[in-house]
Amino acid sequence: MYKAFLIKYGEIGVKGKNRYLFEDALVNQIRFVLEDVEGEFNVRKEQGRIFVEAQTEYDFDETVEALKRVFGIVGICPVVQMEDNGFDDFAAQTVGYLDKAYPDKNFSFKVKARRARKNYPLDSMEINKELGSKIVEAFPEVTVDVHTPNVEIQVEIREKIYVYSETIKGAGGMPLGTNGKAMLLLSGGIDSPVAGYMIAKRGVKIDAVYFHAPPYTSERAKQKVADLAKLVSRYSGSMRLFVVNFTDIQLAIYDKCPHDELTIIMRRYMMKIAEHLARENNCLGLITGESIGQVASQTLQSLAATNEVCTMPVYRPLISFDKQEIVDIAERINTYETSIQPFEDCCTIFVAKHPVTKPNINIIKRSEEHLNEVIDDLMKQAIDSVEVIEI
Ligand code: ATP
Ligand code: MG
Repeated sequence: MYKAFLIKYGEIGVKGKNRYLFEDALVNQIRFVLEDVEGEFNVRKEQGRIFVEAQTEYDFDETVEALKRVFGIVGICPVVQMEDNGFDDFAAQTVGYLDKAYPDKNFSFKVKARRARKNYPLDSMEINKELGSKIVEAFPEVTVDVHTPNVEIQVEIREKIYVYSETIKGAGGMPLGTNGKAMLLLSGGIDSPVAGYMIAKRGVKIDAVYFHAPPYTSERAKQKVADLAKLVSRYSGSMRLFVVNFTDIQLAIYDKCPHDELTIIMRRYMMKIAEHLARENNCLGLITGESIGQVASQTLQSLAATNEVCTMPVYRPLISFDKQEIVDIAERINTYETSIQPFEDCCTIFVAKHPVTKPNINIIKRSEEHLNEVIDDLMKQAIDSVEVIEI
């Protein structure tokens, strides 16, 4: 029934001169998600609207699912396009469309027309009235209700005529790339993929960094992180995943620092390396999946200690979320099943039985002095040997 979709976008409509940048970013991302859908599509802009037109047979549900992953879209409207062959033809085609779309005629409706092409012989009020009476004539059971109709039949008169009556809710947010890029610290857990998704929703492109510790963490654990990156990229677009070999740094910390401070010190070095990679790759911030009080390393004192090594802003979109709220999003964006696969991540190998929960930054710094002789070389090695995976 539908060969096209009219895409409605929200916030980006108000960005003045930058508007075309926002629209172009949206068009690009629509094309990106449609690569996974069978069928050929034409995506084009026309005066404050974006149209997605199927050029071949296509799967309606799959297409809608893909479009629902595009940030910046507020509404996806399956639309019927008609050539302008006069009002009678247009009214007849609209009646035919309604007949197919609403087999049960027990509904109230109103027509809401917009005449974008000013030389059309009827103005929008006249279209509302004339088309309304043709519909009532064709289906005596339906009623007109201009205040709270069950069905709002929207008409746009442009070069062609567009009729639609359904709006499927889009993802909201802003188009990718319109707000720069940030570096996601991506572990194999539940939280960090969700954190990346949430920041991407505001138009931020994402690269990711994963710290692994072979042989303490397996190749399979690394593959799991790559799988998660792939799942996040269904929303956030293509990304680079930087894999840092963290083993020697972890062993040095294990060797030379008090064991109850291992996690905090390790996390501080993760942040330092992540910030370095972020700067090298034009990222303007870091993203983590931290949430206050979730574990010992996420108390306010621990977060302060971890934060202290960075000068870049660290975005923590889950900071006030309960675990269940995070799980709900993970399930919705389809990362949960992968996140709960049981592979050790590097944090779980070197955890102390009784980690400090209220680290004092000065004491931590003093402990880190034990690393003075080796840490610069180890950091350099870790950074020089980074593996880059294109996702
Ligand atoms: P997650 O579910 O995201 O793994 P978590 O509850 O396991 O989080 P932590 O292990 O304390 O929490 O990690 C806090 C944050 O630090 C993670 O959300 C992630 O952003 C980052 N992080 C932790 N481990 C790694 C790692 N091995 N590689 C990259 N980032 C990591
Ligand atoms: Mg984790």
